[in-house]
Amino acid sequence: MFNRAVALLELSPGLEEKIRVCNATYTVRFGVRLRGKIQTFTGYRSVHSEHMEPVKGGIRFSMGVSQDEVEALAALMTYKCALVEAPFGGSKGGLCIDPREYDAHELELITRRFAYELVKRDLIHPSQNVPAPDMGTGEREMAWIADQYSRMNTTDINARACVTGKPLNAGGIAGRIEATGRGVQYALQEFFRHKTDVAAARLSGKLDGKRIIVQGLGNVGYHAAKFLSEEDGAKIIGIVEHDGALLDEDGLDVEAVHHWIAGHGGVTGFPNAKYVKDGAKLLEHECDILIPAALEGVINLKNAARVKAPLIIEAANGPVTAGADQILREKGCVIIPDMYANAGGVTVSYFEWVKNLSHIRFGRMQRRQEEGRHQLVVDELERLSANKDLGWTLSPDFKEKYLKGADELELVRSGLDDTMRAAYQSMRAVWHTRDDVTDLRTAAYIVSIEKVAASYRAKGL
Ligand code: NAD
Repeated sequence: MFNRAVALLELSPGLEEKIRVCNATYTVRFGVRLRGKIQTFTGYRSVHSEHMEPVKGGIRFSMGVSQDEVEALAALMTYKCALVEAPFGGSKGGLCIDPREYDAHELELITRRFAYELVKRDLIHPSQNVPAPDMGTGEREMAWIADQYSRMNTTDINARACVTGKPLNAGGIAGRIEATGRGVQYALQEFFRHKTDVAAARLSGKLDGKRIIVQGLGNVGYHAAKFLSEEDGAKIIGIVEHDGALLDEDGLDVEAVHHWIAGHGGVTGFPNAKYVKDGAKLLEHECDILIPAALEGVINLKNAARVKAPLIIEAANGPVTAGADQILREKGCVIIPDMYANAGGVTVSYFEWVKNLSHIRFGRMQRRQEEGRHQLVVDELERLSANKDLGWTLSPDFKEKYLKGADELELVRSGLDDTMRAAYQSMRAVWHTRDDVTDLRTAAYIVSIEKVAASYRAKGL
């Protein structure tokens, strides 16, 4: 996919190669004494590009972790950060482990030991390398990593900025957990603001009433499905999970399904919907929008030709293989690429990092001052509307809505919305102005690679 885009750019072969390759991958094997014996674990931290520092990218706990996977995901982070103008290079980490095999105490020992190995080599550092959660990790693991770094760097006043995705009480930011799903919602909202783009996907109208199938009701899929159904009027007609799928043409209750999965470990047995045992079959079901939000490679050479959705938004990383991408493009399917679609997470991580470095919550200085100024306007309007001759009245909820100054969550959402709109517009400008670009993914790569190349040139490379 990179090669297809870079061939359309006039970069020197040397610079092209410099951007393509992964700068460094560190492999560590470490032992932890568990259940009376030493167990050895293998972990990676890969740095794809240091055209900007720190470099950024999640740490994944999964049995599928390998050097190849970590390097590919690190490269994707480089392009993702460039596209949404988060000032970071690309990195990724992984630990080969099935987290379900260990209890919380054991996982803490393992995570802290992995963090120790990475901190020791500056592969976790507020100004050099800042990890975040990914598959199999979350707030809890990030809090352990932040604490491990602080213990090893007791005088670093910026220690909390060494990792993002932390809990609020440990230096996190409001809205980080929902950020990637929220970003998927904002991406679709922006897509539907552009009639020509909607028409390119053989759709019309707004998000309201669109029939959506989501694969994976985890962090990303759940939030995307919840916001799209509750706030945009879309219908979630299908949910695909690891143990099968649910189908209801009238729309599923996302909250109820989420609750069921939390209690039963999967969708099996959920009442009030048709259960499909071979869940992956639902990826081929008729719908308006398909949201793969679980694993990589789920749309591949085997099923791509049968996928009917005219619009796919890649909430997961790499859900469509390169071969499937070609088949889908030839069928006229529009794909909103992962590098853009799931960039909400890194965008809000960027806000968290800035918050940690500035040591103050967003909105703390200006919120009450803003409310005071709004109060002046409301008082004046109330004084005027008291004059019956003018026949003015204030609408019932105007006062409440207008008086409220923005808190951190609102500011984070506003910053994320702005980022997703601007990045989409930069992609579509390339998509619609260059004859040799016929899809959003190539457009996204072009925007990103040009930014990375400009950074390297500015450094004199
Ligand atoms: P998660 O672990 O919270 O959720 C994954 C969900 O997929 C789970 O509900 C799981 O049961 C389900 N699943 C597993 N195997 C499945 C299968 N074979 N078929 C259908 N469903 C299956 O993970 P997440 O954080 O939501 O991440 C999902 C994807 O989004 C990953 O590709 C990840 O790299 C990407 N992503 C996540 C973030 C983030 O902020 N969490 C940011 C960017 C990209």
